[in-house]
Amino acid sequence: MIKDIATPIRTRAILEKYKFSFKKSLGQNFLIDLNILNRILNAAGVTDQVGAIEIGPGIGALTEQLAKRADKVVTFEIDQRLLPVLKDTLSPYDNIKVIHSDVLKADVKQVIGEEFKEGQDIMVVANLPYYVTTPILMKLLEEKLPIKRIVVMIQKEVAERIAAKPGSKDYGSLSIAAQYYAEAETVFTVPKTVFVPQPNVESAVLRLTIRNEPPVQVDDESFFFEVIRASFAQRRKTLFNNLSHHFGKDYKEQIERVLTAAEVDPKRRGETLSIEEFAKISNEMKRILNS
Ligand code: SAM
Repeated sequence: MIKDIATPIRTRAILEKYKFSFKKSLGQNFLIDLNILNRILNAAGVTDQVGAIEIGPGIGALTEQLAKRADKVVTFEIDQRLLPVLKDTLSPYDNIKVIHSDVLKADVKQVIGEEFKEGQDIMVVANLPYYVTTPILMKLLEEKLPIKRIVVMIQKEVAERIAAKPGSKDYGSLSIAAQYYAEAETVFTVPKTVFVPQPNVESAVLRLTIRNEPPVQVDDESFFFEVIRASFAQRRKTLFNNLSHHFGKDYKEQIERVLTAAEVDPKRRGETLSIEEFAKISNEMKRILNS
């Protein structure tokens, strides 16, 4: 019987067979630990009803385990050199579609419509290339795709920032951007030893459970995110100073009125504000700017 791809011996054999050289610039760190893969699949709750989307299959370590458990797997790989490898390693499975594409440029919504069954539970499960973690996650969230959950291996530091709560040092615009679309939690951390080659940073598995509705009512989403980015522009400055700097000193009086109406002390710093408070401030600010 052929061994699973995600073992040190089989991975080494595949890499040697294809004389594969890792491209650091593509974030190529392959998983060689079945136990970690099983924990990722458990965290995602993958069943035989699920349609799975993977980003970056590499030589197919996670793809294979997804194919064994899910109904179907669609996976996006940017590196052309991996296509013949995947054709070989994934040949025992008939429920995998490999798409040769940069996921950032792909029309994921269209792919979902074409490749999965109507009404099927769809999940993204991936060991992401770390150099593009945030753009990939924000694309998946902002495009409001019909997906239920995203479970991804990413840098531990980024996972902590995404899942951070107000008042913690990791809390910032990325936490709010992600938590506007999803409930975020770090499920477990992962040692460097389960990858070849080993990455320079610590890793963690992040679970994003997509919300049906945003947790707050926001009148203008892009303005809401503009206010948030402005509030964190200089972390050591007060909310009032950051907002005045962003909107210009002519607006100081209006900002004071907005903060009073939103019942937020102007001396607070952005990192202490809840998503509800940011929603109140941005709705109020928009109303005053439009009046
Ligand atoms: N899933 C494999 C595993 O766990 O062993 C490989 C994971 S490796 C961390 C990331 C993979 O993403 C690599 O195969 C890399 O070539 C691919 N990749 C990098 N940038 C990509 C992009 N923009 N779109 C699609 N795939 C990408």
